[in-house]
Amino acid sequence: MALFQTPTERTITSRPFKQLLRGYDGSQLSEVGDFAGKELYEVSDYVDKVARPKLVFWSSSGERVERVWLEPAERAVLERLVKHFKVNEKPYTSGDWFQYFCCVYLIGDPGISCILTVTNQTAYAIYKYGDESTKKFLPFLIGESDTLAFGATWFTEIQGGSDLGANLVEARPDGTIWKLKGTKYFCSNAGVANFAIVTARARGAKEGAKGISLLCQSLIQMAKETFA
Ligand SMILES: Cc1cc2nc3c(=O)[nH]c(=O)nc-3n(C[C@H](O)[C@H](O)[C@H](O)COP(=O)(O)OP(=O)(O)OC[C@H]3O[C@@H](n4cnc5c(N)ncnc54)[C@H](O)[C@@H]3O)c2cc1C
Repeated sequence: MALFQTPTERTITSRPFKQLLRGYDGSQLSEVGDFAGKELYEVSDYVDKVARPKLVFWSSSGERVERVWLEPAERAVLERLVKHFKVNEKPYTSGDWFQYFCCVYLIGDPGISCILTVTNQTAYAIYKYGDESTKKFLPFLIGESDTLAFGATWFTEIQGGSDLGANLVEARPDGTIWKLKGTKYFCSNAGVANFAIVTARARGAKEGAKGISLLCQSLIQMAKETFA
């Protein structure tokens, strides 16, 4: 594939993508493709060259925040993809995972796709394993609510890598909450996310993968107030 293709050109020339699209008449994807090839492409190019995400340690009121500051145009593009094009909602309602992956392929830009993908994997964990108290976060992550939330997953630990059964982070009940102790390794989107799913082993739980629990953690004050 030649360099400097726009996403629109890529959809026309890429043989693997044509293969993927068999069975689709294209109508479900053409609007996303159009947006990806024009507005989104322009914003991604601008973000790459002029306005890269910035790590902010302190808020203007002097609190330690450690958040990632996104260019407002990048945030607007993400809102459009989630709330208008319903990219992250498709697997749970009107569409399927195939359609979701086609959308991500069309979007192309790794920075935008990463935020969408880890948000969707957070949504999936909540959808599949969440209890009532965590399922109420789902609409915020998949664009079914006016307020958009982003997600992240803290699964990997250095001693196990992809083997989650080797996780050591411990969860201890403390009143109505769980307290986590230990060290995680890698968490894409941590600086942007409102919620994170964390794997941990409840004290006394079995060894290996069967003893791992999923916990949902709100990462910033906004999450506690807006999504309560
Ligand atoms: C940019 C980036 C972002 C990431 N974001 C996240 C995130 O958001 N959340 C998160 O939880 N983690 C994240 N990770 C961690 C990522 O999921 C791990 O890197 C991944 O699980 C692999 O772990 P590892 O690198 O320790 O490799 P390992 O799992 O230790 O694998 C090392 C090597 O052993 C091989 N191997 C592994 N298992 C087997 C097996 N059973 N049989 C044979 N060979 C095997 C692998 O193929 C590989 O070559 C991120 C990593 C990167 C690089």
